[in-house]
Amino acid sequence: MIPCQVCGNDNPLGTRFCRKCGAKVTTGLADVNASVAKTRRQDRGRMIRGWGSNVLSLGVFILACAVLIRWTATPALPPADLPLPSPGPVIPLPDPVKPAESATPAPPGGAGQPN
Ligand SMILES: [Zn+2]
Repeated sequence: MIPCQVCGNDNPLGTRFCRKCGAKVTTGLADVNASVAKTRRQDRGRMIRGWGSNVLSLGVFILACAVLIRWTATPALPPADLPLPSPGPVIPLPDPVKPAESATPAPPGGAGQPN
């Protein structure tokens, strides 16, 4: 793109008059080189965006295939009325601990009772 010296509008390379203001566009070698470099940068960016778009599309496609395979190739769940698994052997629990006052033997004759 060649910038117009009057209004600054970018005109395509080879343009003799500005497309916006109609002024004559003078094209020097530096302008041509800058235009070519800018076009190359734009092409490179366009190529990178294209690659990114391709990679993104491929990722979405692989994800969709994985979901489809998961839904179609996975066996169905078993019916819900299967018998429950048998419980393990029953282990008897020890008797609950008795209160502390009955654990200590009472003094004989009740002589130690304050009254
Ligand atoms: Zn112009």
